[in-house]
This record gives sequence, C-alpha cells and structure tokens, in this order.
Amino acid sequence: MNHCFDIIVIGGGHAGAEAAWAAARIGARTAMVTMSRDAIGRMSCNPAIGGIGKGQMVREIDALGGLMGLATDRAGIQYRILNRRKGPAVWAPRAQCDRDLYAGAVQSLLAETPNLTIIEGLIERIEVEWRHRGTEAQGHKVLVQGVLLKDGRSLSCRAVIVTTGTFLRSLMHTGEQQARGGRIGEGSADGLSANLRELGFELGRLKTGTPPRVHRDSIDYGKLEVQPGDERPAPFSYLNDRISQRQINCWITYTGEPAHDLIRANLHRAPMYSGQITSRGPRYCPSIEDKVVRFADKDRHQIFLEPEGYESERIYCNGISTSLPADVQEPMVRSIPGLESAKILQWGYAVEYDFVPPHQISETLETKRVGGLYLAGQINGTSGYEEAAGQGLVAGINAALALARREPFIMRRDQSYIAVMIDDLITQGTIEPYRMFTSRAEYRLLLRSDNADVRLTPLGREVGLVDDARWDRYQQKQGAVRAFGNWAAAHRHDGLPVAKWFSRTDLDWASNVDWSQWRSTLPVELASLSDDVLDEAATAARIEGKYGGYIERQLREVERFKKMESRRIPADFDFGGLKQLRLEAREKLSSIAPRSIGQAQRIAGITPSDIGVLLIYLESRRRA
Ligand SMILES: Cc1cc2nc3c(=O)[nH]c(=O)nc-3n(C[C@H](O)[C@H](O)[C@H](O)COP(=O)(O)OP(=O)(O)OC[C@H]3O[C@@H](n4cnc5c(N)ncnc54)[C@H](O)[C@@H]3O)c2cc1C
Repeated sequence: MNHCFDIIVIGGGHAGAEAAWAAARIGARTAMVTMSRDAIGRMSCNPAIGGIGKGQMVREIDALGGLMGLATDRAGIQYRILNRRKGPAVWAPRAQCDRDLYAGAVQSLLAETPNLTIIEGLIERIEVEWRHRGTEAQGHKVLVQGVLLKDGRSLSCRAVIVTTGTFLRSLMHTGEQQARGGRIGEGSADGLSANLRELGFELGRLKTGTPPRVHRDSIDYGKLEVQPGDERPAPFSYLNDRISQRQINCWITYTGEPAHDLIRANLHRAPMYSGQITSRGPRYCPSIEDKVVRFADKDRHQIFLEPEGYESERIYCNGISTSLPADVQEPMVRSIPGLESAKILQWGYAVEYDFVPPHQISETLETKRVGGLYLAGQINGTSGYEEAAGQGLVAGINAALALARREPFIMRRDQSYIAVMIDDLITQGTIEPYRMFTSRAEYRLLLRSDNADVRLTPLGREVGLVDDARWDRYQQKQGAVRAFGNWAAAHRHDGLPVAKWFSRTDLDWASNVDWSQWRSTLPVELASLSDDVLDEAATAARIEGKYGGYIERQLREVERFKKMESRRIPADFDFGGLKQLRLEAREKLSSIAPRSIGQAQRIAGITPSDIGVLLIYLESRRRA
C-alpha cells in the first residue's frame, strides 16, 4: 500500500465530486480516483441542472455547503423557474448549462479544495480485511482497507465511496451496434463490478438513454417556437446575488406521424423491443420509442432544442432519446419540422449498467455488508445529476464524520428532498431508475426551493461544511427576512402602496417587483437591502402570509411523523426471530433493518398489524 488516505472516492461524476468536496472540506485526507481528469463533472446527457424536484435538491446541496449550485451559476446559460403559476411548493429552478463550462467549474472548485488529491486511473478492486468474530469493529465483520488500480497501484484508506454511475459492466447500444463503455468514448468498469459481487453484494441491471445531437447551423429556426429564459435569472447558489453571464434561447418543435410511423415500422430493430436490452429504463425519461408505444393516441411529442454551450455547435434534442439504429434515427430526425436538413453530430444511444439494489445501504449510505464502504449516485439505482450529487454529499459527510467518531448526519423526510430520496431508496428499493418529483415529498410545502437555507444551512454549519463566509451571509439574510416580515405584517392593512402588493392573489416570484418604486415606502434599514435579498425576504413573507395556515397544518403532521421516527429499533434487533411476525414481514424487515417504527411503516408490504406486533414486542423488551 504505497499511498495512505482517509477516504478514497471512486469516480469523478456528480456524486463523486460532491463526496470528495465534502469529505475533504470536513478535514479527511481524501483522494478521488477517476478514469479521466478531463471527464470530472461531465454531463453525460442533458446539459441542464434542476427541474421539478431536482431544482429543490440543488438548492439543498448548496444550502448544506455543497458544490453543484456554485458550478451551475458559473455555467448557466438559460435560467427558468418552472411551475411559477402554481403554488410555491412546486416552483422549481432549472438552468440550461454550457456543459464545458460546467465541467470546468467542477474541476476548478475541486482543484481549490484542501486535503484533496485527484488521481487518474481505473479501480479494479476494493481491498477489505475480514475481522475475526471477536474483534468486530463498528458492528462490521468486514472492513475496508484500500483499493487496487488496474495498473497495479494500490492505495490504502479507511473508507471508500463508490460513485461509478453508469460504468459498472456497461454496454452501449445503437440499434444492433454494441460497444462497451459507460458513456460514449469512455471505458467500462468490469473488474469492480465482479469485485462487488465477490464481496457478497447483490447486483441488478438498469438502462438509460440519450438523444442524438445535431449541428446548430443545420436547423431551420424559422419553423421553431422560441423558448426564452426568465427576465431576471435567479441564481442557484445562496452565495450569489445575480447571474451576470449572457443568457440564450432554446427552441421548441414536435415529432409528428411520419416520425411515429417510421419508429413503429422499425421497433423490431430497437434494442428495448428486440430483446437486445432486457434491463429497465427510467419510466419518467422514456425514449421516443417508448412514447410512441405507450402514448399511441398522441399525434405529436414535444422536443426542446437546447444548445450545449456558447461556443458548442451541438444542439441537444431533448425529448427524442433513442437507441434505434443510425439509419432509422436520421430519417426520423429529418421528419421533424425545423430539422429537415439536420446534420447529426452524435447518434442517440442507450447504456446498460450494473447497480446495487439500495436495500443494501443504510441512511448514511454506508453498506450494511462492509464497514467503511459507501455507495452514492446512479450505482444506487437513481437517475440524474442532482439525485447523484445529493447522495454524494451525504456519503462524503458521513464517511468523514464516521472516521472522526462523530454522530452520523441523517436528515428526516420533513427536512429535505435528499432525505426523501435516501429514505425511499432504503425502505422501498427500486426496480427502475429512481428520479425525484415533488409528489414524492409528503411535506413539500415545507421543502420549498426558496427556504432550503433556513432548513439546512445550520445543519451544514454543524457538520463543518458551511464556512464563515456562507454562515455570515445566511445570518444577514435571515435578519432581513425577519425585519421585512415584521414590517410587512405591521403595515399590511394601513393602505401603504406595499400593502396592495401583498394583497395580490397571483403569488408570483417577488422578482417581478420593481423595488425602485417601493423603496421610498420601506423603513431605512430595509431600503438599503439589495433587490435580491428583498426578493427573497418578500417571497418568504408572502408565502407565510398566503400559505401560513397550510404550513401550520403540515408542521402538526410533522410532529406526529417525528413521534414514530423517534420510536427507535435497536441496531441489533433480530426481526427473523420474531415468530409472531408474518414470514414476508420478517424477511423484509431483516433485509432492510429499519432504524425506527416510522421507517418500518414505509417499507412496501409491511402492514399496520406487523407494526402492532413490533410495537408490543419492543415495549415488552424495553420493560424487560
Ligand atoms: C447515455 C446516458 C444517458 C443518460 N440520460 C439521462 C437522462 O436523460 N436524465 C438524467 O437525469 N440522467 C441521465 N443520465 C444519467 C446521468 O448521467 C447520471 O444520473 C449521473 O451522471 C450520475 O452521476 P454519478 O456521479 O452517479 O455517475 P457518473 O456521472 O456516471 O460518473 C461516474 C464516474 O465514475 C468514473 N468511474 C466509474 N468506474 C470507475 C472505476 N472503476 N475507476 C475509476 N473511475 C471510475 C467514471 O469515469 C465517471 O467519471 C444518462 C447517462 C448516460 C450515460
């Protein structure tokens, strides 16, 4: 073992970047080992960050002191708040990014990170030591010891975070053409996949896909609808007041019957339908083949044409992800209005990869089987940069806290979307790529994109990820929000012009307010605040004012929820031995090992009577 680190992160994707960033900044000597330095932070597919449910998670990552929001604000070329006409619980920030600037931002932010070493190489094996029963540490019989690279180098460490994304035993498909690799032009991690099996992990197989890219000069823009960004782009990171880089347009077009007929006539050559691919793909990110089959009654499907960067000649055709053969993709693309003369720069393709069904990890993302081994990102069965990044941050924090013998970092479902995702994964598992939606969060009115800092920045400060600069800014803003809320409440009914503003029913983002005409009505301590802080303060005050009753009700539900979460189940509880439980309940509870009654209740197939048996037994055990 010729190098010694505390933590080694395998992979430089979205999970790996956050994990390495967090572990190193909390103080662990961290190495990130990844196949190619240039591929760190690469966006495999859609060059966009955020969206419904995802945007909320990016704000949470930022509020905790993570990387993704900072990188996005350096690379965002079109910002939009989705669902702005609906309630604040579903407002979702989204940014189209210049994909080269995004990867560059991630790489430079990591380069500035203390305690972090980046090593280029392919990891083949995780070295472990089998502890004799008598010396079990941390309740584990098997502990991480280091990693072995394909070129023979070995690195020792005390924890490993595996963030291998779509690269484990990966296979790409374009029609009948197949090639090994987790992403076009990159390799596959076959050794590590075999090694995880040897270590006793159950592995599954999933698939995802990507659309063709066309040359920007080969599009007839006159036939397309323009889709501009928001007038005032709202930054993702709480550290940024505004976005100053140039913003660009995207465009909209649609498939039609000619494309659908072509697809139907060639389904037998589509890997998903010919049996060439047997694994499941993301339900909510279907290929155009799936759309034509599943929604046969629809005569058109929407496509967003999205530039991949300021200088890039590539346009991403969002909405026609496909693994059809190239000789079918070309006429299919050319049947689309505006793309009649399109020059295809990259064919769409699907990629199949191994993943580790997530009932094998705990809520700290440490595996149950091997101590000090954490999994984060697509390897856990999720799909999406944001889902991966949220897991990477939690894994990086927990690996560093565990080595420092500190309490684990575990958020509840009422605190963050990241917690909802992790809880869903470990209690429900997943048979298809899991992606976040607002509908997955039962407390979504509390988990808004505007209040992620109120919910999480204090937690990030506690674990050591929120530095003084972010903490000072957070406290200043909270002071402004409180002052604005008190003032607004006091003046709401005294006829001041601002009171009219508060009475407006259409609760739009405060950023539509032109503060220059309201400043004169504000008290001096508020009048000096920047537009952006006033926007956030006013939005928070208006949401409290308009939704206060609903928020109160959700907070009461949360109190009931927390009661069940606090009914702990001892880590060594032997569910298998509880004969009064149904066999299915014993098997599921033993496999998932919930840490509370609340979590046990959320496991698919566990009934209220199973919970009743558990409560009676736990009570009698407590008395004994
Ligand atoms: C073709 C394709 C289409 C996709 N379509 C979508 C989509 O439509 N929507 C969506 O939300 N997401 C999509 N994704 C998924 C998205 O890219 C992932 O969700 C996201 O990148 C996952 O992040 P990650 O960090 O888990 O893994 P990745 O971003 O895949 O990063 C994994 C990293 O680990 C490195 N690595 C792997 N194994 C080793 C090893 N043994 N040693 C060293 N380094 C290693 C790789 O080089 C890579 O840098 C797609 C991905 C692909 C490839």
